[in-house]
Amino acid sequence: MGNNGNAYVLWFEELRRADVSIVGGKSSSLGELTSATKVPVPYGYATTADAYRYFMEKTGQNKKIHELLGTLSDVEDSQELQDVCLKIRQSIISAEMPSDLANTIGDAYDELAKRVGVSDPYVAVRSSATAEDLPDASFAGQQDTYLNVKGKDMVIRKVKECYASTFTDRAVYYREKQGFAHEDVALSAAIQMMADAKAAGVMFTVDLATGADDRIMIEGAWGLGEYIVQGTVTPDNYVVKKDDLSIISRSITEKSIQLVRKEGGDVVETIVPKELSKKQVISDEQIAELANYAKQIEKHYGCYMDMEWAVDHENRLWILQARPETVWSRKNKKSAKEEVKLNITEEHNVVVKGLPASPGVACGKVHVIIDPKDIHEFNEGEILVTTMTAPDWVPAMKKAIAIITDAGGMTCHASIVSRELGIPCIVGTKSRSVEVTKTLKTGQEVTVDAQNGIVYDGIVSDLIKKEEECHEAVAVEYFPPTGTHVMMNLGDPDLADKYSKLPCDGIGLMREEFIWTTFIHEHPLYLIETGRPEVVIDKLAEGISKVCRAMAPRPVVLRFSDFKSGEYRDLKGGDRYEPLEPADLLGWRGASRYYDPKYSKAFRLELKAVKKVREEYGLKNLNCMIPFCRTVEEAEKITSIMREEGLVRGPDFKLYLMAELPANIIMADRFNKYVDGYSIGSNDLTMLILGCDRNNDTVSHLFDERNIAIKRAVRHLIKAAHKDGKTVSICGQAPSVYPDFTEFLVKSGIDCVSVNPDMVKTTKRNVAHIEQRIMLDAATGRGLAETEDYEW
Ligand code: PEP
Ligand code: MG
Repeated sequence: MGNNGNAYVLWFEELRRADVSIVGGKSSSLGELTSATKVPVPYGYATTADAYRYFMEKTGQNKKIHELLGTLSDVEDSQELQDVCLKIRQSIISAEMPSDLANTIGDAYDELAKRVGVSDPYVAVRSSATAEDLPDASFAGQQDTYLNVKGKDMVIRKVKECYASTFTDRAVYYREKQGFAHEDVALSAAIQMMADAKAAGVMFTVDLATGADDRIMIEGAWGLGEYIVQGTVTPDNYVVKKDDLSIISRSITEKSIQLVRKEGGDVVETIVPKELSKKQVISDEQIAELANYAKQIEKHYGCYMDMEWAVDHENRLWILQARPETVWSRKNKKSAKEEVKLNITEEHNVVVKGLPASPGVACGKVHVIIDPKDIHEFNEGEILVTTMTAPDWVPAMKKAIAIITDAGGMTCHASIVSRELGIPCIVGTKSRSVEVTKTLKTGQEVTVDAQNGIVYDGIVSDLIKKEEECHEAVAVEYFPPTGTHVMMNLGDPDLADKYSKLPCDGIGLMREEFIWTTFIHEHPLYLIETGRPEVVIDKLAEGISKVCRAMAPRPVVLRFSDFKSGEYRDLKGGDRYEPLEPADLLGWRGASRYYDPKYSKAFRLELKAVKKVREEYGLKNLNCMIPFCRTVEEAEKITSIMREEGLVRGPDFKLYLMAELPANIIMADRFNKYVDGYSIGSNDLTMLILGCDRNNDTVSHLFDERNIAIKRAVRHLIKAAHKDGKTVSICGQAPSVYPDFTEFLVKSGIDCVSVNPDMVKTTKRNVAHIEQRIMLDAATGRGLAETEDYEW
């Protein structure tokens, strides 16, 4: 008990989901399951916000932090910021925990041991942020989790490490910029028994394929649940009737491999012993028991639920997580009409027309910005109007409720980023109507209808109403499993948590460039020359790990840097290192930089960041991809640099090649040796096959991924890759824009399609539908060739 009468630790059964301010989000939801339901949750306790505050005060950390932050003359100076934050974190970790608090946490560990009947039990220590009402909760480092921790001294140390995670560079930067007091932050640590999984799986209180809610679907496989989610192992499937818990159907598969956790926390793949591989992973009684837990959880939360379960070596069942299987509000951004009073009209006065590049309707005030040096003037909730955006515009784009540009096509920067941000966007107005930058005025109220590529003067009431109805109509959704993986393109780490809830199989394209423009801002060679190379490693690792954590255990494919020289030049110090290239889309980009003596030092920092994420942070779901690789020799050189940096392909680390140059496809049989698979970059590939500059509005009508030449190339690649057991995916815009192109891809046997977040659900359904038709056609003896009329 603290000296103000508040507890320093609370047991899970003492917590409810409303206790976020006391113990943070993670601990409170584990508490809810423990205290309000009878389902078995790995037991534990949480340290409270009061404990954190007491620690910080009593050990003099608040004063010290204040002093250290006082030495920070410029929060924008990343080196200075990094030094100060490191000192703060070291100070927290090295401070001796006040004995009364240490005793409370240590005694609770002993008590936990007593309560669960295991001496010195292995526990997981997880950070749980208590300031989740703030717009960016990730500042509190709530993602940190330490597994297989044993002994009270170790637990106390890990609690301090969780505390220190409130002072990452980014967290401090964020609070300084927002004017939040560092003292207002508090952190809870959940100390929870490890569930030593013999088998694990997922379950749902609704049939995902049909939507029938009179049954419970359970899937299970040997080892940890990750391989089920990744689709590596086809799990057993048991369907249970909800009312009497009888098993309606079961399918027992052959599960030849499993993922198991070794002592010390590492995860390894092992062969399932022969006598177990075709065996049902849990008994019929356990299936009924699990179904019963699912029923209770659904009843408690009042909605369809999605849960994770495990059975340990002593045959005990555990519920590890439970979340509503609902649809998530698509837009968190406040629309401009909530922020300012707008004049509603019934009129439909069209002022501008353009190419609808990212769907949605938005209304608000226009802000015209031509020169990037003025982007700091752009305000949250405005409509950004400009000629064309570039990577350094991203911070302003994130504040926008819609974007309209003079130039551009479906694959220009504005289109790609808007789709990722989930905001409406219209591009290329110049060639379709007028230059939007010359037509709209800053402050003018407009309605952007990006379904149809039209901008109306004023706030058109019926359009806004329609959009709102559309959002409200969203109910519970079901996504049938698909053989073709559906992944997501996502570069911005800040969006990872939000989009991780989408029903996708992982990240098929994480563009590294987002991290450079949002978090690093400086040219890598400049950072090296000024003695700060670790900024690159740390910032990249921070951004990448955020995405990997949010998506885990689903795989994430990070694409190494693919800036053009013009974009590199925009990074601080960049003009000293970058050539002036007349057509930089065809210049010094992608692979050609990585082994070039002028650049390879910088590339090695990218590799070090990958290594840090995989090895230091243990996020083994991270894989890599090489962009714009012109020759097989380039692929060879890059893989050998990767080997020197300790990154070698293996069962848990895959390397892919962007198939975005005709050469990648023509020479696929030779590239195969160096990679695990390909991801088709249809944006560059279309440009290069059709000879059509992807950024040139004048020829944008000729830029069409559905051209027969592209389709032939795609089919050729799939054939050449599959011959050597390599996979083929696609991460260009084509399947996000043309559902019929997705159909072509699935019918051509592609392994995965990666689309923008706004298209994940539609694509998932589309793919399921196409696969069903393929099966039906096969059953009725119709081959693919007969079902298609491609002119080969
Ligand atoms: C592509 O070329 O299709 C691709 C996905 O890469 P980017 O658009 O980033 O060049
Ligand atoms: Mg490309």
